[in-house]
Amino acid sequence: MAVLSDRAKSLKPSPTLAINAKAKSMQAQGIHVISFGAGEPDFDTPENIKKAAKKAIDEGFTKYTPVGGIDDLKDAIIKKFQRDNQVTYKRSEIIVSCGGKHSFYNLAQAIFDQGDEVIVPAPYWVSYPPMVALANGTPVMVETTEKNEFKITPDELKRAITPKTKALILNSPSNPTGSAYTKKELEKIAEIALSKEIFVISDEIYEKIVYDGFQFVSIASLSEEIKKKTIIVHGVAKTYAMTGWRIGYTAGSEEIISAMNNIQSQSTSNPTSISQKASVEALIGPQDEVTKMVTAFGQRRNYIVDRLNKILGVSCYKPIGAFYVFPNFSSYYGKSFQKKKIENSTHLADFFLDVAKVAVVPGVEFGADPFERLSYATSMEDIKEGLNRIEEALKKLS
Ligand code: GLU
Repeated sequence: MAVLSDRAKSLKPSPTLAINAKAKSMQAQGIHVISFGAGEPDFDTPENIKKAAKKAIDEGFTKYTPVGGIDDLKDAIIKKFQRDNQVTYKRSEIIVSCGGKHSFYNLAQAIFDQGDEVIVPAPYWVSYPPMVALANGTPVMVETTEKNEFKITPDELKRAITPKTKALILNSPSNPTGSAYTKKELEKIAEIALSKEIFVISDEIYEKIVYDGFQFVSIASLSEEIKKKTIIVHGVAKTYAMTGWRIGYTAGSEEIISAMNNIQSQSTSNPTSISQKASVEALIGPQDEVTKMVTAFGQRRNYIVDRLNKILGVSCYKPIGAFYVFPNFSSYYGKSFQKKKIENSTHLADFFLDVAKVAVVPGVEFGADPFERLSYATSMEDIKEGLNRIEEALKKLS
């Protein structure tokens, strides 16, 4: 009998995390690698949030909590949705999980069955298709274009919907492209979702990281009808530099949230008690640290986009949100270095790591091979040095 399940055999590690681990291990060997790998803010978690966690420990808040999160945190999440998105949820419509990824995973387990199709606009975040597949669903990738700012158009969406379609995944602002849907665009999507009776899974984890005064809109806020068909996946990791604390949350119908609660109660139990207390402070405490971080990300975005577009043969869309750029390097495919031909985004990422000591994530992992993803949630100094190295390395290709 085989040791591993078919499920485990077909699964590969998350490429974003794998590249991050590789860069870190090279750094541990004393190699000066510049990492544009995993999307993780370089800032420390704000002091007030750390204090709330220390207080929780000192007060002995270190035991099991309710499976789906403490009421204080659910109330903070409800307040956040009211304050920022003008959407009203009840406690029974909120569940807290161990990170945004875990929220999505449990949601997929709760709503997908064999044969269910899930529309995933590409470029997509690396873990959506495997998490849909782990729930026996079928991810249906729909290619979007640079020309349309990597956003699915109403026609593309309509064409992708079949009687088997259960849901559309929306990720705005997007990882990896940084594009974001306007209210008008969301209205069109909502109209189609309602007429075709499909769910919208709205991953809003980058909501707060937007530039140039962009007004973030949650699709759930457009009408009571679309709210009923929307499940929001969110978390504190990116906004509050809390990646390691592992707190994500989901808002949706009572039926779905209660099913997720059952899944969670049979698997992980509650998310960490201490992190939950810290997240209450994150969501309802002072927000000025967020503004500071977003301002810094914005400056880095301007710099990195400008530099990339100045490199011969590279084009880079200017993101509206998140902290990634997704430049097109495909004009370098077909060129060689020391007789080794660069044929795709994986070869080019390997070349950058070996020759330039710069870590990037190949576009193919996001379903878009002409591109590489660079996270600019790293210091300006590293961004400058990393781009110098990329520029120099590209000159070695012929
Ligand atoms: N979401 C981040 C990224 O895309 C963190 C790593 C991960 O969970 O994949 O880099």
